[in-house]
Amino acid sequence: MQLTGEMIIGQQLVRGAAGTQLAFNPATKATMLPQFGQADAADVERACALAEQAFDAYRSTTPEVRAAFLEAVANNIDALGATLTERAMAETGLPQARLEGERGRTVNQLRLFAKVVRDGHWQQATLDSALPQRTPPRPDLRLRKIAVGPVAVFGASNFPLAFSVAGGDTASALAAGCPVVVKAHGAHPGTSELVARAVQKAVADSGLPEGVFSMIHGDGRTVGQALVAHPSIKAVGFTGSRQGGTALMRTAAARPEPIPVYAEMSSINPVFMLPAVLAGGAEALGAAFVESLTMGVGQFCTNPGLVIGVAGPDFDRFAAAAAAALQPKGAGTMLTAGIHSAYQSGVGRLSQVDGVQVLATGQQEGAGCAAQAALFRVDAETFLASHALQEEVFGPASLLIACRDEAEVLRLAAGLEGQLTATVHCTADDHGFAAKLLPTLERKAGRVLFNGFPTGVEVCHAMVHGGPFPATSDTRTTSVGAMAIERFLRPVSYQNVPQALLPAALRDDNPLRLARIVDGELRTAI
Ligand code: NAP
Repeated sequence: MQLTGEMIIGQQLVRGAAGTQLAFNPATKATMLPQFGQADAADVERACALAEQAFDAYRSTTPEVRAAFLEAVANNIDALGATLTERAMAETGLPQARLEGERGRTVNQLRLFAKVVRDGHWQQATLDSALPQRTPPRPDLRLRKIAVGPVAVFGASNFPLAFSVAGGDTASALAAGCPVVVKAHGAHPGTSELVARAVQKAVADSGLPEGVFSMIHGDGRTVGQALVAHPSIKAVGFTGSRQGGTALMRTAAARPEPIPVYAEMSSINPVFMLPAVLAGGAEALGAAFVESLTMGVGQFCTNPGLVIGVAGPDFDRFAAAAAAALQPKGAGTMLTAGIHSAYQSGVGRLSQVDGVQVLATGQQEGAGCAAQAALFRVDAETFLASHALQEEVFGPASLLIACRDEAEVLRLAAGLEGQLTATVHCTADDHGFAAKLLPTLERKAGRVLFNGFPTGVEVCHAMVHGGPFPATSDTRTTSVGAMAIERFLRPVSYQNVPQALLPAALRDDNPLRLARIVDGELRTAI
C-alpha cells in the first residue's frame, strides 16, 4: 500500500492544509517521504461532527456487529504484513521482532475486546423488581451501562501499534460503542496512516456509519487542544508525558462541559530487593534487573527506574553485578530526537544532584538518536530530600537507593509518588517484612508484583495498568486489559420503562442471554 500523507476523516482521504510534516528515521536522522498534511480547524470540526452523527447508530449496534467489526480491524492490520513493520521500523528505530510482537499484541487486544463485547458483562445489567405493596412502593428499576460518546485518542510514541491508532485506547472505546477520533503521534505518521486505512476499510466493510473512526495529523498544542475542547468529544485517552497529559486535563476541566481525561503519564516503577533474597542471589538479580532496564532502550512506561534495598555487603554485591552487566550494553536508538534529548538532560540532571554517584554507564552514544545506559546510586535521605530524583527519566537509566534499615525502606515507600507498578523481590524469610511493605505499595501502585520485573504488561482480564497520579490522571481505571472499557461507559437507570421500550439487555426475556444481577443476586442465563 502506497502512503499518501492524507488523513482519514470518515470515509474520505483528506490532505491537511495547515502545514506539512515529514517522518524522521531516528537511527539515521534522515527524513522520509511522503509529506503528511496537518489538520486545520475545519478538519477537526468535520471529524468530530461525523463522530457525533455516528454515535447513536454505532452505540445501538448489536454486540455481534461490534465484535465482528473489531475482528475485521484486527484482520486488516494482520493483512498489512511486512509493509507495516518495515515502515514502523524506519519511523521508530525499534527492531523487527519487537514490532512483530507488538502487532500480535495489537490484534490480540482487538480480538479480546471483541470477546468482551460479546459476553456482555460490560453492560452490568442489574434489575430491581417493583415492590408495589411496600410503603412507600418501590418502582421497577433497571440499570445498564452505555457508551459515553465520541472519544479523542492520542497515540503514544513508544507503542506505535499497541498504544497508537488502533491500540488499547481505541479498541476499548470502540468496544464500548464510542466513535473515535485519533490524533496521530508525529513520531510515526506513516505507520499511523497504514493502520488508519485498515480501520477505515473495516468501518466500510461492516456497513457502519463513516464517523465511527477518523485519524488526523497535527501539532498537539493546536490540533490536539482543539480536539479535546470540541463539544462533541466526551472523553480522552492519552499516553505520553506528564506535561502533555496535565495540559489536556486542564483543557478538559475548563470546558463548559468538563470531560474525563484518561492520561497515562509518568512512573518510575520502584523495585524493592529484600534482605534474604539479596543474601541468596545478589549477582543474578543484578544482571536480570539490567536486562529489564535496558530492554527496548528503556522506553517502557513500566521501566524499573528505582531499586531500593538495605545498605550492606549484599546490596553492594547487587550494585556491582548490575554495574558489570550495564557497562557492555550498547547504545540503543531512541524513538525520537525529542525523547533522546529529554533523556540526555534527565541523565545530566541526575548526575548533578549532590550525593548521587554514577555507578556505571553503558557504551558511548553512537550514530542517530542512540542513548547510553546509566546507573546511579544514592542514599535514602538524599532521595527523600530531593523531589527531582522522583522525576521520570524516560530511557535506560535507573537509581539504586541504599536505606539504613527496614524502617527507612518503609519510610521511603511511603514518600513515593503514584506508580504504575511496584515490585518486591523476596524469599519466604522476607515475608514478615514484605507483609509490612505491601499495604503501602497497594496505596502507591496499580500493579504489585513479586519476584519478577515490571516490563512486559499482559493484556488480559485481571491486568491493571494504571495507578495514582502522576502515573495516571484517574486512579480508578486501567488502560490495558479488559477493564479498560469501563473508562468509556456510564450507567443509566431505567425506572418503570415499558418492556417494549427497554433495551434488550434489560428486558424480562433476556434475549442477549446475559448474566444479570436480579434483586441483588447474580443470575446466569439458562
Ligand atoms: P508527549 O510530548 O506528551 O506527546 C504525546 C502526544 O500529546 C503527542 O501527540 C503530542 O503532540 C501531544 N501533546 C503534547 N503536549 C501537548 C499539549 N500541551 N497539548 C496538547 N497535546 C499535547 O509525549 P512523547 O512525545 O511521546 O514523549 C515525550 C516524553 O513523554 C518522553 O521523553 C517521556 O518522558 C514521556 N513519555 C512517557 C511515556 C510513559 O508511558 N510513561 C510514554 C511516552 C512518553 P505533539 O507531538 O504535536 O506535541
